[in-house]
Amino acid sequence: MEKTAFVTGGSRGIGRAVVRRLAAEGYAVGINYLQSRAAAEGLASEIRAQGGRALAVQADVADRAAVRTAIGRAEEALGPIALLVNNAGIAQNDLFQDTPEELWRRMFAVHADGAFHTIQAILPRMLHEKEGCIVNVSSIWGLRGAACETAYAASKAALIGLTRSLAAELAPSHIRVNCVAPGVIRTDMVEALGEETIASLAEQTPAGRLGTPEDVAKAVAFLAGPEADFITGQVLTVDGGFIL
Ligand code: NAP
Repeated sequence: MEKTAFVTGGSRGIGRAVVRRLAAEGYAVGINYLQSRAAAEGLASEIRAQGGRALAVQADVADRAAVRTAIGRAEEALGPIALLVNNAGIAQNDLFQDTPEELWRRMFAVHADGAFHTIQAILPRMLHEKEGCIVNVSSIWGLRGAACETAYAASKAALIGLTRSLAAELAPSHIRVNCVAPGVIRTDMVEALGEETIASLAEQTPAGRLGTPEDVAKAVAFLAGPEADFITGQVLTVDGGFIL
């Protein structure tokens, strides 16, 4: 039976690759976006042209009411959400003492509150069905920490704490909650660092290359799939050995 997935930040980068992968695996997909309407609508059309089902829905994940509306629209069009992927994210690059309060709060609003909002919106139905799967996209910096990315790393670490705690709480209800922690993945977020930094990051990666959005999408699909049905509360690093 076709299942429905909802992917936040599905318009670009890792989220877009996750959407494509899940659609290829037969999921109907709700594609959340913030600003990239044309990209999200184009992706939904691409999936429909291939015989799949998809709907692009705008919402700032930091906005609780907007998230509820977007998830309601997706469920109405595509059916109850069986898989939630919390992928929406923003980057940071500044010293801790220069980090404006608004930026600190925005990092937590998008990464931690965003997951709080989406999960609370889909959970009643999953609890009723006694089935469901949640995959959160954290970061290796949420595991290890990183200079000039304190707010980013702290909010991504919060997502790992949320994952582990919620996994314990929801396991008796047959709902699994896991995390992927990508390393350096070539998306718009990383392109912004410039070619020199990108080349140096690739050199520092034991696997000898940077990751692709598809590398992360494969890990998300694994955690969402039946091969992982006894795996919950885990953080799967997808980084070519970067933090070993
Ligand atoms: P990206 O290319 O910049 O794409 C970010 C996506 O998130 C876009 O679809 C964007 O939507 C969406 N988004 C941002 N803020 C949002 C909000 N408030 N509400 C809803 N959607 C929002 O980034 P990416 O590299 O694919 O990153 C995806 C996730 O992976 C992020 O959580 C990031 O922290 C994490 N990650 C990335 C890397 C990496 O190296 N790239 C490494 C570790 C972790 P619009 O385009 O519509 O604005």
